[in-house]
Amino acid sequence: MTRLSFEFFPPRESEALTTLMDNVVSRLDQKQPDYFSVTYGAGGSTRDGTLDTVTRLIEAGHQAAPHLSIGADRDEVICDLLEKYRDMGVKRIVALRGDVPSGLPTLSQNAEALVRLIRQNFGDTFRLLVAAYPEVHPDAISANDDLDFFERKVKAGADAAITQYFYTPYAYYDFRDRCVARGIDIPINVGIMPVTSYEGIVRFSQKAGADVPRWMLKKLEGMQGDSAGIREFGIDMCTRLCEDLRANDVPGFHFYTLNRWGASLRILDNLGL
Ligand code: FAD
Repeated sequence: MTRLSFEFFPPRESEALTTLMDNVVSRLDQKQPDYFSVTYGAGGSTRDGTLDTVTRLIEAGHQAAPHLSIGADRDEVICDLLEKYRDMGVKRIVALRGDVPSGLPTLSQNAEALVRLIRQNFGDTFRLLVAAYPEVHPDAISANDDLDFFERKVKAGADAAITQYFYTPYAYYDFRDRCVARGIDIPINVGIMPVTSYEGIVRFSQKAGADVPRWMLKKLEGMQGDSAGIREFGIDMCTRLCEDLRANDVPGFHFYTLNRWGASLRILDNLGL
């Protein structure tokens, strides 16, 4: 069985949160995901928004997984938030270092420290999910060094991982093989970013350090202005990507929805999921 989850960012306005709940969550819920995750803005900038969105999801009877980054927050601030989540019945946390708001110095902490902090203070209350980078995190000095950091997060107590999105499945197979060779056996779910616009995918990928293959960029460049065509291409391409991954036994797909439902649902319908 391929497990599913969907990621949202916390809407700024309360009307937008209602729209997310009524139009997006209700539709994606048809696919019976394990959970809906909610991102945490760089440096804790969406602390309240993430909590509000998670609260609405839980109140509506869904499983919600807040993202939490160690960022610049003090341990007490993090533990205070985690107590709230525990008391609400949250079962999963996506534990991250987080991105640094532009202009601020790079963080000295990393996700491993957050995983340790949560395990030390909350034991096994939460299932902990961490990020994985089959195409190598932009800060890494080498692929091997990056895998060392991943292994440390797993040893500190992570239960499962979600990858940064990618469009070259071999990158995932190679990463998984290298994990297995080190005895890392947690499920590594695949992050899927449906392509819906040329500018969007270029901007996101530069920031995330995700590789958009040349053929894709050239094709999308040539389709600029044809938003319906780009959307159809994106759905078809991501369907084929997911088919390849399923045939190679990935445990689950985590959709970066950008608070939209259309492309994710179409891809899942195409896959018969
Ligand atoms: P870590 O695992 O701590 O580190 C990532 C890499 O940085 C390591 O693999 C290593 O190569 C290098 N590194 C770490 N520590 C050191 C060190 N001490 N010395 C040298 N190199 C080091 N960002 C947000 O702000 N909010 C979110 O909600 C969010 N959600 C995400 C969800 C997923 C599924 C993914 C894949 C990413 C998400 N991000 C989010 C982005 C993420 O915060 C960034 O990629 C960030 O730069 C790294 O976070 P991490 O938890 O992977 O960090």
